[in-house]
Amino acid sequence: MPVRARPRCEGDTMAWDFSTDPEFQEKLDWVDRFCREEVEPLGFIFPYAVRLPDPKVKELVRGLQQQVKDQGLWAIFLDEELGGPGFGQLKLGLLNEILGRYPAAPQLFGAAAPDTGNMEMLAAYGTEEQKERWLQPLLDQEIFSAYSMTEPQGGSDPNLFRTHAVRDGDEWVINGEKWFTSAGRVADILFVMCTNGMFVVPRDTPGVEIMPEPRNHNHIIYTDVRVPADHLLGPEDGAKVLAQRRLGGGRIHHAMRTIAQCTLAFDMMCERALSRESHGATIAEHQMVQEKIADSYAQIRMLRLFVLETAWKIDNTSTQEARTDIAAVKFTMAKVLREVSFNALHIHGSLGTTDLTPLQRMYAEAPTMGIADGVDEVHKATVARRVLKGYRPHEGYFPSEFLPAKREAAWEAWEPRFEADPDLRKVAEGYKEYFAKRRG
Ligand SMILES: Cc1cc2nc3c(=O)[nH]c(=O)nc-3n(C[C@H](O)[C@H](O)[C@H](O)COP(=O)(O)OP(=O)(O)OC[C@H]3O[C@@H](n4cnc5c(N)ncnc54)[C@H](O)[C@@H]3O)c2cc1C
Repeated sequence: MPVRARPRCEGDTMAWDFSTDPEFQEKLDWVDRFCREEVEPLGFIFPYAVRLPDPKVKELVRGLQQQVKDQGLWAIFLDEELGGPGFGQLKLGLLNEILGRYPAAPQLFGAAAPDTGNMEMLAAYGTEEQKERWLQPLLDQEIFSAYSMTEPQGGSDPNLFRTHAVRDGDEWVINGEKWFTSAGRVADILFVMCTNGMFVVPRDTPGVEIMPEPRNHNHIIYTDVRVPADHLLGPEDGAKVLAQRRLGGGRIHHAMRTIAQCTLAFDMMCERALSRESHGATIAEHQMVQEKIADSYAQIRMLRLFVLETAWKIDNTSTQEARTDIAAVKFTMAKVLREVSFNALHIHGSLGTTDLTPLQRMYAEAPTMGIADGVDEVHKATVARRVLKGYRPHEGYFPSEFLPAKREAAWEAWEPRFEADPDLRKVAEGYKEYFAKRRG
């Protein structure tokens, strides 16, 4: 066989079951209620509440976070061996498709980026001493972190990165420049990817200079930044492995939350379609509106299945082994969010173009999803490259599905049967002649 009939995957042996166990469903119901009744209103009254220094707000936040902890839902992204509740990615997916609807929810559940990815790296690669120094305070939200990887001269290709650390006695001296470090300005510690390792750098270390622009995703210059030798995380030269670990998890978590955003846009689209009239009918009765609703529905269902199946694969193998699907989920979620948020915005007409609903923000953020954590093109190239490893070229001029060759092979394979049963041969030859005539 010149090509593989069908790319196999770990999921091929799974027992298909799309139900949620009742005990976990109770947790999901609690989360749903808690987010609607507590988290959403808090976000309207105190945006970015978790980061606000006011003692009154802090008290409110701590109270809500305690409720989350009491439910055993704190830091849900971390596996048990890494200090979290160990629900696994599939259950995390079900939780995130609720949390993703409310901007304040991930922080109130101790599961907000960029801290989550950084904690995952610390939990997986940190020494006991490093975990005690940084992981626990991050888990308790006593400190916040940022991730400094992208550089001004190149983002998609890590081989273009130049930030480098040089060992000097008991210290490392870091020089370089980073671009788009999210929340770098307000972070206590920065995870700095160097060509020769991943380093933890306290933001107030001399030589760390945060440029005025951009405001939220920072341009940071590192000049002769000295950190103690034990601020190297994981092995020397191990930065790319740590980065993969961090970004792989982050990508699927984004996708889980994107399902929530798409569902919110879809709910709004349906409600509006039933509420407005035009040309003698509700707009829901116009076929071009129905097409948008039907396409959006199918796209969200497909995305959700894909995300949950990928989460299941990670649980049953590893992030590394599920890489093809994580990359495919990454660009698919960006596309689905773009299209569904556009459809919802369009169906809202002029209102959709304002900032009086979440739709304009959602649509504006959609292209971001195709860039952050790796641009679509790079993920598509990864998927194609990895998938193609399961195939090989056909021999000769024609593909293996070339019908005349397949027909001939079938006749050859059946020859023993025809020999044993000449009447069967006669019938087959009759049909052969009949169909050959019809094919012309
Ligand atoms: C909201 C947001 C938050 C971010 N947060 C962080 C953060 O916290 N820390 C951090 O370090 N970085 C962060 N980034 C940066 C992010 O990692 C980079 O934007 C991303 O890796 C792409 O790099 P770039 O922006 O330099 O684009 P480029 O690499 O310059 O790519 C630009 C365009 O070139 C094309 N292109 C590039 N490579 C290829 C290719 N191989 N094949 C085909 N076309 C290609 C694509 O069209 C691509 O969109 C964030 C980005 C965003 C948008």
